[in-house]
Order: sequence, then structure tokens, then C-alpha cells
Amino acid sequence: MNIRDNIMTQLAIMGGHRLRNQPLPARRTMGEAEKQAVIDVMDSGELSGFFGSPGPQWLGGPKVREFEDKWASTYGFKHAISVNSWTTGLMTAVGAIGIEPGDEVIVSPYTMSASATSILFYGGIPVFADIDPDTFNITAATIESRITQRTRAIMVVHIFGQAADMDPIMALAKKHNLKVIEDGAQCPGIKYKGRPVGAIGDIGGFSLNYHKHIHTGEGGMLVTNDDKLALRCQMIRNHAENLIEALGVEDLSNMLGSNYRLTELQAAIGCVQLDRVQGYLAHRQRLATHFGRQLAGIEGLTPAKVADGAEHAYYLYPVKFDAAKVGISRGDFVKAVNAELPQPTIWEQNGFVEAYVKPLYLAPMYQMKVALGSKGFPWTINAGINYDYSKGSCPVVERMHFEEMIYTPLIREPLTESDIDDFVAAIKKVLLNADQLVGRMGDSGQ
Ligand SMILES: *Cc1c(COP(=O)(O)O)cnc(C)c1O
Repeated sequence: MNIRDNIMTQLAIMGGHRLRNQPLPARRTMGEAEKQAVIDVMDSGELSGFFGSPGPQWLGGPKVREFEDKWASTYGFKHAISVNSWTTGLMTAVGAIGIEPGDEVIVSPYTMSASATSILFYGGIPVFADIDPDTFNITAATIESRITQRTRAIMVVHIFGQAADMDPIMALAKKHNLKVIEDGAQCPGIKYKGRPVGAIGDIGGFSLNYHKHIHTGEGGMLVTNDDKLALRCQMIRNHAENLIEALGVEDLSNMLGSNYRLTELQAAIGCVQLDRVQGYLAHRQRLATHFGRQLAGIEGLTPAKVADGAEHAYYLYPVKFDAAKVGISRGDFVKAVNAELPQPTIWEQNGFVEAYVKPLYLAPMYQMKVALGSKGFPWTINAGINYDYSKGSCPVVERMHFEEMIYTPLIREPLTESDIDDFVAAIKKVLLNADQLVGRMGDSGQ
């Protein structure tokens, strides 16, 4: 009998058999070409080509430059600047656009913490705008309600890999003379109305950490079409303070640099990985379509919605869960589905995960307003202004996080439609036998 026919039976979480025992295929991101590229760099002996002082090597070695040129030309960006993580990339972007201590930057609360922390590193103050309940991205409308005379920039995050609705955001930014940074960590190669995300705003970029679509172990890539911003990024990446005189730079703001340099080994891997982006995206989009079609017929589950003009990279696949319609809690549902699937490894979660990160403003750093030092800097700069990070300040993101949203990381290579069919069968098995769970498990909640 096909395992998928075996769904009117005892749930695995109640002691029945798992619907599938065979492990899901592991994500294997490095191939022979990456291996050879690393060996070539090892043989060359030049593991980094950077010097932190004036001279031809302040922009890095041959592989770093090749990786940057290849990224820029692949997507038609004027500049690509590699960095050793996307967190440092975001910090670099915030510094490059000239954020001053006390400037407000509007950002999504539903993102990896670094989207907002990068603002604080320059003394900027994160102001959180609520998200759209269908795309989970911030919108021109939610951003506009947060603009004050101190607002200097907007940090747009293309969360889960779906491009945010950039045209209205750019129009709003223009009207209020705001800079726009795009956090495209989760969506390399994605387009918005035919234009690649990353440099639709002033500056943006992508993460190259191990979990992202493509990676160099750790790393990131900034992109911009603005010459001045590109130079400021290159300087911040590599000890800006040592280059001011040699480069004849006049604007000293934020021109204290750091060392955010990528190694030649990582850049060599990145050159190969870049060739894989479009294949990964196509694979994930195909699986997502397959999965979404099957979910669409299931009461209580709403598949991911892709807005007009946007593309989705499916870094994660969000689903909305309606506990009232399903008749069991979100926590019980997630646990029961996952129990039907093979044991996950440390790196690869199976099935569903209950909600994404907690809305950022609920973290202690914002609740206590203690970030740089212990005396409340940078919030103290704007003394008298009450930055509202209270529970309830962004009701949609809180509803999504605490009640409605679940996501799956299974829309990924090298899974096939058949693997997804098993996942759907596990979901259906739990829904058809939900009565086994009622009253027998505690609500896991948060
Ligand atoms: C991964 C991620 C980052 C941070 O990137 P790192 O390369 O891990 O430093 C920032 N923002 C978002 C939305 C991310 O997903």
C-alpha cells in the first residue's frame, strides 16, 4: 500500500506509525566545482588579497574582484561590494548613507535581528512599521504612518524571499527625501516588476551565510548603482580612516572603517555558487506552486500569496493557520505533522515551524532601551520622544507571530514533488484525525 493511502489511522504523535520514515534528501550545497575553486586558491597561496592601506590592494585580491564583477554583471548592478557577512553589509550600508546618531530609520519588526541592529550601530533609532498580513512585508502605508521629521531612511526587508512592493515605497521616500536600504538576504536573483531587487532603493544586498540560497560559509554582497555610496562602502569595509587622504575624500562622516573583508577562498566559492542561483530559484518556485495548489483546497490553511509584480524566492514558505477552522491549536498541529515525518537533523528542520522570529521590538534591547553602553544611547539623543516598542504597537505582526503564521523550510532543493506529496499527506493525516488530539495535549502556545 502506498504510504499516502495510510492516513486514516493513529497519529504518530499518539503512538501510531510515522507516515514517512525515509529521511528527506539533505541539502547539499557544495559541488566539485567549488572544491576545485578552493584548491586553486590554496595552490596560489593568496588566501586574502586585501591591504588596509592605500595602494592597489585596498579593494582586495583577484577572486574578490572577480566575484564582485560577476555579481554586478549578472544582474546589471553598477557596483557589487563583497563583505564578510550580510550583518556587516547592513552596517556598512547604514554608515554609507550617512545615518547620524539620533536619526530614525523605519524597519520591519518581522525579520532577522540584524536588519534593525545595524541601524543602532551608527546611533540610528529603529522605528518599526507594521507588516502586510498577506506578504509579511512592510508597505508604503505602514511606513508612512511612522514618518517624523527625524526620519532619514527606510530599511525594506524582502522577507521569506518575496519582493516588497517597492514602487509606492520609493515614491514615499522621494516625497520625504529618505534613503532606502534593501535587505535582500533571503532573495538573491529575485525581481520586482522586472527589476532585480537590491538596488531599486539606494543600496541593498544579500546574505551568503550557510543557510541562504547560495553561500560562502559566511559572507554578504552589497549592491548599488550609486558611485559615491559604492566608494563609501568599500572604505567602511576596509579601514576607511587610513584611506581618506590618499583618495581625497572630503566627507568624513562615518568614515571610520572596520575589517569586513571576504577571503579569496570564499570569493572563489561564491563565483561558482552564483551560477546556481537561477536553478535553485526555479526549483523552489516549482515546488511552491505544487505545494500551494494542494494546500489551497484544505480548510484552515492558507498558502503563501505572491503579490502582483513580485517574485518569491521561497527562502521559507509561510502558511496561515486558522485554529478555529482546524479545531486544534497551532502548536499541536505543528507537532503532530512533524511527528509524521522523519527525524530532522540539526541543520534541517522538517515539516512546519511555529512562527518566525518574535517581533523585534519585543526583545529586551528595545524594551529596556539599552544598546550602546548602559545609559540609553542612542534613544537619549531624542530625549522627550517616547519610542513605542510596547506590545500592541504593531498589531498585525503580533497576530501573525503569536496566532496565525507557520512556515515550512521544505520548499528547497533537492526535494521533489513526491517528497512534497508526502508532506501534504502528513498534513491531511493530522487534519483528518485531529479528534485524536483534542483534549489530549496541552496547548504549546509560545
Ligand atoms: C540572514 C539574514 C541577515 C543576516 O545575514 P548574515 O549573513 O547571517 O549576517 C539579515 N537579514 C535577513 C532578513 C536575513 O535573513
